[in-house]
Amino acid sequence: MFSKKFQRKYALTDQGVKNTKKGVFWTVIVNLIVMGGVSILYWMMSGFIGTLTDAAPLPGAALAIGLVILFVLLSFATHLQQYKATYGLVYNEVKTTRISLAERLRKLPLGYFGKRDLADLTETLMGDVNRMEHVWSHVLGYLYGSYISTAVIAVCLLVYDWRLAIACLWGVPVAFGLLFGSRKFAARSAERTKEAAVRVSDGIQEALENIREIRATNREDRYLEGLDRKIDEHERIMIRGELGTGVFVNAASVIMRLGVATTILVGANLILSGRIDFMLLFLFLLVITRVYAPFDQSLALIAEMFVSQVSADRINEIYETPVAEGAEVFEPKGHDIVFQHVGFAYDEKEVLHDVSFTAKEGEVTALVGPSGSGKSTCARLAARLWDISKGTIQVGGVDISTVDPEVLLRDYAMVFQDVVLFDDTVMENIRLGKHGATDEEVRAAAKAANCDEFVQRLPKGYDTPIGENGAKLSGGERQRISIARALLKDAPIVLLDEATASLDVENETKVQGALSRLLAGKTVLVIAHRMRTVEAADKIVVLSDGRVAEEGAPSELMAKGGLYHHMVELQRQSAQWHLE
Ligand code: ADP
Repeated sequence: MFSKKFQRKYALTDQGVKNTKKGVFWTVIVNLIVMGGVSILYWMMSGFIGTLTDAAPLPGAALAIGLVILFVLLSFATHLQQYKATYGLVYNEVKTTRISLAERLRKLPLGYFGKRDLADLTETLMGDVNRMEHVWSHVLGYLYGSYISTAVIAVCLLVYDWRLAIACLWGVPVAFGLLFGSRKFAARSAERTKEAAVRVSDGIQEALENIREIRATNREDRYLEGLDRKIDEHERIMIRGELGTGVFVNAASVIMRLGVATTILVGANLILSGRIDFMLLFLFLLVITRVYAPFDQSLALIAEMFVSQVSADRINEIYETPVAEGAEVFEPKGHDIVFQHVGFAYDEKEVLHDVSFTAKEGEVTALVGPSGSGKSTCARLAARLWDISKGTIQVGGVDISTVDPEVLLRDYAMVFQDVVLFDDTVMENIRLGKHGATDEEVRAAAKAANCDEFVQRLPKGYDTPIGENGAKLSGGERQRISIARALLKDAPIVLLDEATASLDVENETKVQGALSRLLAGKTVLVIAHRMRTVEAADKIVVLSDGRVAEEGAPSELMAKGGLYHHMVELQRQSAQWHLE
């Protein structure tokens, strides 16, 4: 129970908890052995003072030397273990945490990425884990180890002489009390700093992403000004926060050290009244410097520990978001896609209401409707990119919400508007469609997708790097690459966002040619924007405001004279208008 809470508080992995326990254990041992050293010193000093007063020979010189050597050896060995357990193991923890976070992110439903943007997630994976690393390595073992060893030492001191023990130790709880009192302040300022940092990286990312638009519209100055303001604000908030925690930490350190003064005062009084001898006071003075030392190390960092709570919370949030899970096998009977009374909301507002339709295998089903009516949403849901809130979606009789998204997607090929291309060669970008496809297979798919002729024109043919997200390719070329990928994958279901609107006539014919090869015999769900495609579809589902307004074969719907008929007429008119 305690272990779970501890693990959550510091965002540790299971292995991390074990390692931290080791770190705590060795810190306790190191601190106690150091105390052993202090006892040897005390014993030798009292022997030495004895010889001064009684003129007796030094007792057990050989024993003393032996003890010192033993102490040095033990101290070295335990320090080494402590070092390994605190610093060494933590580097693994950083790696394990990043990997487990990445694994988790991979399995999270896509909707999560709308809530936390890329800059924010990168900050968690890199920045937050880095901050936690410092806490894991420099604070946890030392601090918790020191709590335990100080408790043991405090009991011993109290048994020896409770008056001196109190005079020497009262500062410790007061100092920690003060620090814990300042915790809220530290956490709040850490949160503010974090928010300001995310605003800065958001600003930079936004500027980089939109650099073309910014240049084209001459808004560089305005953008930079905004960024400057964000950076200044971040700096101001950070300085204010660090100053605040710095004051508390230093005050705590001073208070703890006041213990030396009170020990001397109380000790002197007790000696004067003859209740203790000087050697006892000497022993206590030796001990307290060693009691404070491990705390000193962690005091400066304890503020960091409080601040780290924000980072731990952000890491935990990823760990605790439910992942989209499901069966590892997907064996549908055929590939009909069936929506039954589907309701869905991205946030609170429902965007699909009671949507039911079937997209049959071997047919092209076109989703049409005004912009914002829910066409893309339906296509995304059909591939379980999000989970629905009402109704069911079945593929070949299997409820897709019961299938692991990764397994499910093996049966899908998607050609969407936002084609994602990687900064790699044309060959590798197409090969993404099918893991381990041979060069011949890739070439064949590229040919079928009408990529071949433009690839031949590239300086190194298929081995030409295409720049980040295919920056060196035109819209039509990018889309043909994504069709080639889909052809290579040869999945039974094809989701297609028909984005040919931006292409010129020649390109469009080529893309259409490529598509017809891709779609043959598949279950095809197409988000249609042009009536020409729609007329060739087997079935049309007309969406309006997130509801199915009408459905049926194109000729049926034309005859009916409803929304579809109206849309066809509108497009026809606008086409004529263009021609005039
Ligand atoms: P269409 O493809 O027909 O243009 P969409 O399916 O894209 O329509 O959008 C349907 C509704 O859902 C719209 O009101 C749109 O604003 C909203 N929407 C689309 N994507 C998101 C998203 N990622 N987060 C929140 N709302 C969204």
